[in-house]
Amino acid sequence: MNNLSDKIFSQDHARQLDSQDPLSEMRQEFHIPKQANGDDEIYFCGNSLGLQPKRTQEYLNYELSQWKKLGVKGHFSGDFPWMPYHEFLAEESAKLVGAKTSEVVCMNSLTANLHFMMASFYQPNKLRHKILIEEHAFPSDHYAVESQIRFHGFAPKESMLLAKPRAGEETLRTEDILALIEQQGDEIALIMLPGVQYYTGQVLDMKSITAAGHAKGCRVGFDLAHAAGNIPMALHDWDVDFAAWCSYKYLNSGPGSVAGCFIHERHHKAELYLNNELPRFAGWWGHDKESRFRMENNFLPIETAESWQLSNPPILSLAAIRASLDTVKQAGGIEILRQKSIKLTRYLRELLNQELGNDITILTPEDIHASGAQLSIAVDLHGLDSKTVFDRIEAAGVTCDFRHPNVIRVAPVPLYNSFEDCFKFTSILKKALGVNL
Ligand SMILES: *Cc1c(COP(=O)(O)O)cnc(C)c1O
Repeated sequence: MNNLSDKIFSQDHARQLDSQDPLSEMRQEFHIPKQANGDDEIYFCGNSLGLQPKRTQEYLNYELSQWKKLGVKGHFSGDFPWMPYHEFLAEESAKLVGAKTSEVVCMNSLTANLHFMMASFYQPNKLRHKILIEEHAFPSDHYAVESQIRFHGFAPKESMLLAKPRAGEETLRTEDILALIEQQGDEIALIMLPGVQYYTGQVLDMKSITAAGHAKGCRVGFDLAHAAGNIPMALHDWDVDFAAWCSYKYLNSGPGSVAGCFIHERHHKAELYLNNELPRFAGWWGHDKESRFRMENNFLPIETAESWQLSNPPILSLAAIRASLDTVKQAGGIEILRQKSIKLTRYLRELLNQELGNDITILTPEDIHASGAQLSIAVDLHGLDSKTVFDRIEAAGVTCDFRHPNVIRVAPVPLYNSFEDCFKFTSILKKALGVNL
C-alpha cells in the first residue's frame, strides 16, 4: 500500500471528511438503530426501508390529537385539515421528481399506482400490444405488467418485451434499449422501466428513453421506487407520461406508507376522460372539489394528477410523508443531497476497490450519471457460504441486504450516513471475508 491509500482507509480520514460535510448534522434528525453494545448500527439499508426522522412522531401525534379533540371536524380545522391534506405534500414531492405541483399526488401504494397508471396508459390493440420492461424486474412490477397483459386478453409470451444486458454484462446499455425501441416500437404500447434498477443500482437514461419511445408512438412511464429521494429528475421537461414511487425507501416515510404518482399535465384535461380518449378508474376523491359533496354522481375529473385519486387518504401516513419531506427540505433539497451522495458513494467505492479489489466486483456502473446511492457488490466468498458472511457482518453492526448467491446491496444514504460508516463497513467486510488478517 502506498501512503495515499493508507490515508483514505483510515478512521481519521473518514472523520475528517465528515467534519467537512455540510450535511453531517442531518444525521441528528433521525433515529439511528443501535447495536446490542449501544453503538449506532451501520445502517446501509435505506434503499429498502429508510430510517425514521425524529419529527415524524410529533407530526403523527398532532393528527392523533386532532382526531381525539375534534372528531370529524378535523377534516376542516387545525393547521393541516385532512380534507386537503394531500395538497400539503404536492410542492415538495414535485421538486423531488422535477414536476409541476399539479402533476404529482400522494396516493395508494406503488404497485396499486402502477396498475392505475396502466389502466390509463396501456390500451393495447392487435398491432400495438407490447409492454417493454427489463429482464429480472422487481417481482411486483413483473406481475403487474403480466397481469395487465392478460387482463386485456393478450399473452405475456408475445406481449411482454424484456430489455436485457448483453451476455457477460450485468447492466443495461442505453444504446441497446434505444435499439430495441427503434426495432419494435411500432408494436410497443407502453414502456415501463425503472428510473433506478433495484438490483444493480443502475440509473437509466430516462430522458433518452422517453424521447425514443414517443418518437415511435409509445407511452412511457417509470417506476421510481429506487429513484425518488435518491437522484434529481426532470419528469416534466423529459415529457414522461407517468411515474410512480414508494415513499418508504429513500423517502423515509415508514413501512408501507402511501406512494407517489406523477401524471404529465398533457393528460389532465377533463375532456380526455369524458371523450374516452384516456380512460381511468375513478373514485370520489378524483372528482371536482367544489361539487364533491353534492353527491350528484356526475363524475367531473379535477384537472390535475389528483383526479386519479380514488379514496380519502390515510392521514397518519400522509403526516409521516410530510415529516419526511420537511426533513429533505431542511437539508436543502434533492440537488444538495445528491452532491453529498456522489461523494459518499465514490468514497465507499474507492475503499472497497482498494481494500477488497481482488475479492469483489461492483455491479453498479461507475459512471456518475448511471449510479445513485447504492452499490451492488458481488463478493468472492472464499469458500464461505453466504449465510456465514452475512451473519458475520450483521453481528459486527451492519444492516444491509444480501441476495443469493453472493450479492450485497449497500446504500450509503446522504441524509443520515457518514463517511465513517463507509470506513467501518469496509473494515467489517474485510474481516468477514478473512482478507488481509
Ligand atoms: C420496493 C419496490 C416495490 C414495492 O412495491 P409496493 O407496492 O410498495 O409493495 C415495487 N417495485 C419496485 C421496483 C420496488 O423497488
